[in-house]
Amino acid sequence: VPSILSDPTLFKSAAYVDGAWISQGKAGSYELFNPSTGDRLAVLPKLDRGEVAQAIAAAHDAYGAWRQVPAKTRSIFLRRWFDLITENAEDLARLIVLEEGKPFAEAKGEVAYAASFIEWFAEEAKRIRGDIMAAPEKGGRIVVLKEPVGVCAAITPWNFPAAMITRKAAPALAAGCTMVVKPAEQTPLTALALAELAERAGIPKGVFNVVLGKSRDIGPELTGNVLVRKITFTGSTEVGSLLLSQAAATIKKASMELGGNAPLIVFDDADLDQAVDGMLATKYRNTGQACISANRAYVQAGIHDRFVEKLAQRVCALKVGDGFEDGVQQGPLIDEAALAKVEDHISDALAKGASLHSGGRRHARGGLFFEPTVMSGVTSEMRVTREETFGPVAPVIRFDSEAEAVAMANDTEFGLAAYLFSRDAARIWRVAAAIEAGMIGINTGLISNEVAPFGGIKQSGIGREGSIYGIEEFLEMKYLAWHGA
Ligand code: ADP
Repeated sequence: VPSILSDPTLFKSAAYVDGAWISQGKAGSYELFNPSTGDRLAVLPKLDRGEVAQAIAAAHDAYGAWRQVPAKTRSIFLRRWFDLITENAEDLARLIVLEEGKPFAEAKGEVAYAASFIEWFAEEAKRIRGDIMAAPEKGGRIVVLKEPVGVCAAITPWNFPAAMITRKAAPALAAGCTMVVKPAEQTPLTALALAELAERAGIPKGVFNVVLGKSRDIGPELTGNVLVRKITFTGSTEVGSLLLSQAAATIKKASMELGGNAPLIVFDDADLDQAVDGMLATKYRNTGQACISANRAYVQAGIHDRFVEKLAQRVCALKVGDGFEDGVQQGPLIDEAALAKVEDHISDALAKGASLHSGGRRHARGGLFFEPTVMSGVTSEMRVTREETFGPVAPVIRFDSEAEAVAMANDTEFGLAAYLFSRDAARIWRVAAAIEAGMIGINTGLISNEVAPFGGIKQSGIGREGSIYGIEEFLEMKYLAWHGA
């Protein structure tokens, strides 16, 4: 693996704790495989609970000094980290392709997206401000200060191995917090390369730590250790709920970016090409493995057949393969369980009357590849509309009235993203107000960037990442009731 990197020293197979690389863990080791080829990529240490407690203690020790570093200096550290990530973008993208499987061009896009949070929060670090208010009684002043929360634990998923870490670490470090990150078992290499670059940026030891290990064993330390003041998580609703309940025992602050079941609604008055482009962008990016991926398309009767035909044409033309091959647009799924879920959703839909317009099966090249799929005749009774498929499957549901579309779109416990396609501004306002979601793409399938507040409502999460609001998640208020001199 190191030989395919321009800078082989970015390849690390050791945890990073208190500025030191730990290549042997007390809980043993595990092997990491490339989802495209099945090749073994690395052997990584598994830390035990005690070693994770040591990492937390190191982050706590580092916190005392890091919170005192002037905001402008913290900003300069983050800016250096951003510059190094940008200079090493191709190598980071290679690591993402190797361990996660997305096409190289997409991986480079992810690195730019990941870096943008560090650039943004390097700027925001300098703009943390409090308030002064008139007290209700004579001679008093109310002073509100913003202070860092303290040591933060981050648990991140495999689908965006770089961005899900920087979207949490950048605001935390900008605010003066320190962090212990547990990346997904499937994608440690990107996380460790980010740690190496943080070290080169001069970020002091203990401020940013990466622990590796079996999540069920070390998770309870991250959620239960009293030195951890905040847990920030991206992943499934099921695990988020478990972590929240664990964190409840010590009343930790929590941010949760959880599962979605995004509806994409195309009205008769939409621009057909724009709607198809939007569906391709949100559905097939990362082979459908994104929490904001459109999980179900509701298409109005008047445009339905043309939409399905055009979408199927475009989807049939998508090139499937190893992310390093030229022109590949669809990589493998992450593992066998992901493939099995996609197959289950399709066979359940077909058994209940849906029809296939493209794909539907495992790809001829074998392994973890699946044919990009389009189905119509889908209904609310099918699993594919109720559960997050997390794969390259577009189920299309026909509807007649706006009210019907809104009701079906909201008929879910999730509330992360939604997408609307229409050229009628009054309709857009009306429907956007009625849809229960934290983020709504209007005539676009691309909604993520560092300037916008990312997050969900209902069982899709708590809190927002990125944007001017994201740093607040890592700040506490302190109020001074100030009298006299
Ligand atoms: P995904 O479907 O993306 O794998 P998960 O919620 O299972 O979603 O995983 C997201 C992150 O949560 C990963 O880093 C995973 O290792 C971690 N995780 C899974 N189960 C637990 C657990 N019981 N305790 C702590 N972390 C967990």
